[in-house]
Amino acid sequence: MGAVSTYRKLAAVLPIIKNKMRKFVFLTGLLILLASSCATRNGAVTKTEKQLRQGKQTSLSLIAAGDNLIHIEIIKDAKKETGYDFKPCYSEIKPYIKNADIAFINQETLIAGETYGFSGYPLFNGPKEIGEALVDAGFDVVNHATNHAMDKGERAVFEVIDFWEKQPQILMLGLHRDAQSRSETKSVIQKNNIRIGWLAYTYGANGIPLPKDKPYLVSLIDEAVMAKEIDELRLLCDFLIVSMHWGDEYEHTPNKRQRELAVFLAQHKVDLVIGHHPHVIQPVEEFARPDGGKTLVFFSLGNFFSSQKETPTILGALSRVTITKTPDKAPPEQVVITEAEIIPIITHYDIDNIGYKVYPLAGYTPELLDSHKISLSKKTTITEFYTLFSKVFNQNGLPSSSNASKKD
Ligand SMILES: [Zn+2]
Repeated sequence: MGAVSTYRKLAAVLPIIKNKMRKFVFLTGLLILLASSCATRNGAVTKTEKQLRQGKQTSLSLIAAGDNLIHIEIIKDAKKETGYDFKPCYSEIKPYIKNADIAFINQETLIAGETYGFSGYPLFNGPKEIGEALVDAGFDVVNHATNHAMDKGERAVFEVIDFWEKQPQILMLGLHRDAQSRSETKSVIQKNNIRIGWLAYTYGANGIPLPKDKPYLVSLIDEAVMAKEIDELRLLCDFLIVSMHWGDEYEHTPNKRQRELAVFLAQHKVDLVIGHHPHVIQPVEEFARPDGGKTLVFFSLGNFFSSQKETPTILGALSRVTITKTPDKAPPEQVVITEAEIIPIITHYDIDNIGYKVYPLAGYTPELLDSHKISLSKKTTITEFYTLFSKVFNQNGLPSSSNASKKD
């Protein structure tokens, strides 16, 4: 990977870029880390910049969303005369998803269809049209390694696998048809000449054991298994991402186990960790790798979409990173994160439990908030969402936007 020197260079130019980008931050969200290998202190042209001009540098943008947590109220709202339509739920956020080269989402709940009964908490299952809406929105990678994977038993898991196999353009993570396909199928997406490897794990399945004869069915957190799978995939990709379903629900602070696992993932030279499950946002941090590189860990992106009722649970985040491949003097080429950004989002639903929709917080209005069901029990302002967002993502010395609270 050879990411060492690039990261050091990036750290040096970070304050300059941060100043230049204040306006951009105000417009697009909260900047947590921005670094570019072609920026210089005095405008001097670096070797990397020359390469960029010569078109030798390649990069891609990746966006990741948190928990798509489909409660029964959302299913009822999506019911139309002719079936279910979840596409309107994502219409406002769709441009963000479509504009990325690769988009990831954590599908928290099953989409096994009507045969298994539609239900919300505590044993979730929804229509397959949820998956169709995610495809329509532009997602490319869908995680099912969640604590709800076994909510309807193993047959429902196979139903979900069947559904995604009919969508060959989508990479589904976390569920496996058999032991052979789990060990032999290597999840790698190649885009813009960069090979992105993907793995996903969940801490468990709410106490529901995996079938004794199918221990491969759902990818569970197990360091021995993870070490083997990560080390094998590391050799087949330029950039390795691990999706982690972990942490304590409704806690903004990562727990001890999350930190232990983050260190473990860094030791295995993972580049990026996308965390989810707490239903609220948690900070982003960098962890040092033994090869001198860094592992960027988004501990929790919060809810992407849900019918939860508290302010912190309707606030979520999209993480957006630019991954750049820079040919060096000799192989291996450097493939590193050159920009990272976090964008606040909000789930809206009306007082009458209708109109479920995800919005970028930048496009959300006080009028919409007044009609939000949470306004029935508690007067809140858009500023409160920005304040919470800044508080969580401004930890650990990472830069954030000072303009964030002016959106109200
Ligand atoms: Zn979960």
